[in-house]
Amino acid sequence: MAKVQGKPVFDEERCKGCELCTMVCPVNIVQMSKKINSKGYQPATVTDASKCIACMRCAQMCPDVAIEIYREKI
Ligand code: SF4
Ligand code: SF4
Repeated sequence: MAKVQGKPVFDEERCKGCELCTMVCPVNIVQMSKKINSKGYQPATVTDASKCIACMRCAQMCPDVAIEIYREKI
């Protein structure tokens, strides 16, 4: 079976900094950024996108629909 590589895209302007997505990533690559977005929230970001397995957990967890995951077979 082909392995799947995920490409996570976080919309930092939609993020409200709730941190829910950081708790569900099985490879622990979702963390809070040090910067602040235009609404005054600290947004979530990905530290090493090459480790993403496209499980979608972060995107399903996000109440603000700020995360999109693209999948590609490798
Ligand atoms: S899709 Fe899964 S592996 Fe990729 S960043 Fe989200 S929770 Fe982590
Ligand atoms: S779950 Fe959504 S709103 Fe909450 S920190 Fe993650 S990206 Fe931001």
